[in-house]
Amino acid sequence: MSKFEILEDYFGHKQFRPLQEEVIDAIMHREDVLMVLPTGGGKSLCYQLPTLLMEGVTVVVSPLLALMHDQVTALKANGISAAMLSSMQSLEESQQIEAQLRQSEIKLLYVAPERLTNAYFLNLLHDLNINFFVIDEAHCVSEWGHEFRENYRRLSLLKAQFPTVPIAAFTATATKMVEEDIVANLGLQNPKRVRGSLFRENLTIHAKHRIKDGKEQLLAFLKLHEGESGIVYTLSRKSTESVAQFLQSKGVEARPYHAGLSTEEKNGTYRDFVADKVQIVVATIAFGMGIDKSNIRFVVHMTMPKTLENYYQEIGRAGRDGLESETLLLFSAADIVQQKMFIEDLPDIPYKAHAFNKLDSMVRYANSEECRHQSIAAYFDDTIATCVDKCDNCAAPESEKIDITEPARMLLSAIARTEQKFGLHYIVDILRGSREQRILQNGHDNLSVYGIGEKYSKAQWLTIGDKLLELGAVEIGEFKVYRLTTFGVEVLKGKHTVLLKKERLSVKQSAPKRKVTYFDDYDAELYDKLRKLRSHIASENGIPPYIVFSDKTLKDLSAKKPQSKEEMLEVHGIGEVKYERYGEAFLALLT
Ligand code: ADP
Repeated sequence: MSKFEILEDYFGHKQFRPLQEEVIDAIMHREDVLMVLPTGGGKSLCYQLPTLLMEGVTVVVSPLLALMHDQVTALKANGISAAMLSSMQSLEESQQIEAQLRQSEIKLLYVAPERLTNAYFLNLLHDLNINFFVIDEAHCVSEWGHEFRENYRRLSLLKAQFPTVPIAAFTATATKMVEEDIVANLGLQNPKRVRGSLFRENLTIHAKHRIKDGKEQLLAFLKLHEGESGIVYTLSRKSTESVAQFLQSKGVEARPYHAGLSTEEKNGTYRDFVADKVQIVVATIAFGMGIDKSNIRFVVHMTMPKTLENYYQEIGRAGRDGLESETLLLFSAADIVQQKMFIEDLPDIPYKAHAFNKLDSMVRYANSEECRHQSIAAYFDDTIATCVDKCDNCAAPESEKIDITEPARMLLSAIARTEQKFGLHYIVDILRGSREQRILQNGHDNLSVYGIGEKYSKAQWLTIGDKLLELGAVEIGEFKVYRLTTFGVEVLKGKHTVLLKKERLSVKQSAPKRKVTYFDDYDAELYDKLRKLRSHIASENGIPPYIVFSDKTLKDLSAKKPQSKEEMLEVHGIGEVKYERYGEAFLALLT
């Protein structure tokens, strides 16, 4: 049989997709291969098809049991003999598979990476006729990737033990650095490198600042997708439950999915979702890896993921069938604080700093006004043209942008006049003519920029500050001090126009301020976040949490949601001293 016949007969496809043939031919020529292709690009076919043209067995290393299981089931459904070996199986089952392997009855064998360190298994492999090894999700090899797995590191033994057996490595997400790491760690010999464009043209990407808990924004988005399948990602188990309940109360069919549910419940939801019996799954990131459901029409993130790799993989689950699909990211400053806390809590591993950098890239992406497809591609060292109208930024007409050159110059001027020695909040307070002690003591109320920016709220000024940071007009130095860059100096001199999406300045204005004094009426989700921040500060200072703020203070904070120092001082239990110590950290979470 020719490869074209196999393509039609076993896989039911009329033609190869770009790059598939190239990889298949390289594998047939016994070359090592490294393929980077977005999710849904059709990587599995690249190793499954040539296997059917070969005599022996192809050994596929894959990180997740569920993934292997799905693949084996799909292959068997196509009449291809496949099996997996896992620690979950009984001795009899694995003995039976071993016997089949020895009889050359299995074409594709799926195993977890840890199995390759098992001497018994390695001996078995030496007795078999192995076509080639496949390393799926190969980015797990690299510490610079986002899903490093210790077990993947040991895969270097493959080339040592089986020097003549080729290796084909596949991943959807790899920067050039991760690519080099994969080649080096697996010991690939002069591999055929194939890199697909990361442009997923059937995805329309949106990212928006979250208003409150984002539920109303979610509902508005779902109105455009009535009856369609989709995934809504949230950060915590609790929020999967609360968002799913909210949707159910609005008549939308949704189910939660998180690691705390029983295996039965999880499997049931997974099955029903794949079978289109449940429309929406509200999940933590535990859900969806390797999911083989091609008609997912939308993916929503209710909070910011910790890396662009995660984000790209998660949105990549939409539209695998190539039909138009949509993604929405809702984010806020509080997400950043929370993600930073997660990273802080990691053991002091060498790539902790790396994790912070990855988060920074994610934040820049979320706030960016550039083409989103292009930004993602650039992050993965790929260059593409702008998407024209497949993202909110490119589709936004110029009229939705406003000229903020004047306030931008005011802000830059205030930074320059205070000798680039202060943080953004302080600078903004000067512009807004605050009577704060420190400003008066420093004599900054005498500056020409003092009080010239009352037209904008503090939140709006902070947005303008963010924009200048995104543009590279300012940079943050030690102690969060804001400094001008060369480009910033040019903006200050009026050499550039600064445009900002209108909605970024209006979000805070339109969010109604709630003045609630009944503690029963507090925002429970926010309260939870405040508590986390409190325990973080407490452990950092080696004091009990109630010393930082009492529960009553936290409840009052989550009811009143203060947006400035003045408003913060109205909250139960917060005076100047407490504000000085902890105020800014809590404000960052609230604003
Ligand atoms: P990846 O592993 O890269 O995420 P898959 O191998 O799961 O992608 O393939 C994604 C989808 O594309 C599957 O539904 C598969 O059947 C389909 N597919 C793969 N190759 C082709 C092809 N040549 N023509 C049409 N559909 C294809």
